[in-house]
Amino acid sequence: KQRQPVEDARPKTPVKPMTATEVKVNVSIPEAAERAAATGADGVGLLRIEHMVLTLGKTPERYIEDNSEQEFVDEIISGVREVAEEFYPRPVRVRTLDAPTDEFRQLQGGENEPREHNPMLGYRGIRRGLDNPHIFKLELAAFRRLYELGYDNLEIMFPLVNDAEDVLRAKQYMVEAGIDPDKREWGVMIETPAAALSVGDMANAGIKFASFGTNDLTQYTLAVDRNNEHVAGIYDELHPAVLSLIGDTIETCREKGVKTSICGQAGSKPKMVQFLVDKGVSSISANIDAVRDVQHEVKRVEQRLILDSVR
Ligand code: PEP
Ligand code: MG
Repeated sequence: KQRQPVEDARPKTPVKPMTATEVKVNVSIPEAAERAAATGADGVGLLRIEHMVLTLGKTPERYIEDNSEQEFVDEIISGVREVAEEFYPRPVRVRTLDAPTDEFRQLQGGENEPREHNPMLGYRGIRRGLDNPHIFKLELAAFRRLYELGYDNLEIMFPLVNDAEDVLRAKQYMVEAGIDPDKREWGVMIETPAAALSVGDMANAGIKFASFGTNDLTQYTLAVDRNNEHVAGIYDELHPAVLSLIGDTIETCREKGVKTSICGQAGSKPKMVQFLVDKGVSSISANIDAVRDVQHEVKRVEQRLILDSVR
């Protein structure tokens, strides 16, 4: 059923301060959509689909072996639709699949997942998508269907890209899936130093936004496993090297007319908010419980910047 036009679902009385920097929210399970929308966030900065896929209990490849690809597509359509509907017309940035192989191993078909010494450095994100375009195309087919159903608030984000080559290949698959890259909002996550250093070329390849995945960007910049308690003490999203990559990326993106955002956990932290608003980031996406505080922090920093500029 085609979606019916609805009014903006945001509460009529503003529950948030007006800010130039948009404040969005991260959503990982469709059931959280209503609570996320009620924060008054300006949209969803990251909608993960891993949960939708993992709860079905099969690896993506198993759907192909089983000839049940439609089940895989339908699950994505229904989960993403719930969020896109709840937020309409606020934008919802859905990310293509990004689960490391060890998370697929417990599922049906998991015995065929590659055994990797370093799953976080391995077969995940866009690498898997580009290596196995069959599944990648099914994900894109689900998004195309949602556009057909009227969810023009949907935006597409690619995880773990390294360079313009990744972007151009992903873009070609969008075209093949019937999604016009010139008409839709789409972009990448900046999660590796390579991506940060390649953002100018990625802008030339057509991305419309770049979103900092600081959970991974920190891990790969500092070579600190984000899930390893023994090195948790030196895992620091505010490390000068991480901030330097972020700051330079924002500058390049501004020159190229590419929007910038953050969707890693650090977007919920006041110090990161201060840094990003200072640098002129376009939007910040926070955890549901942090949206309100981030809205107020953004307002505070923006007001200080205005005062500084007239002094
Ligand atoms: C990130 O890396 O910051 C991110 C948001 O992606 P994920 O946590 O799903 O790897
Ligand atoms: Mg990540």
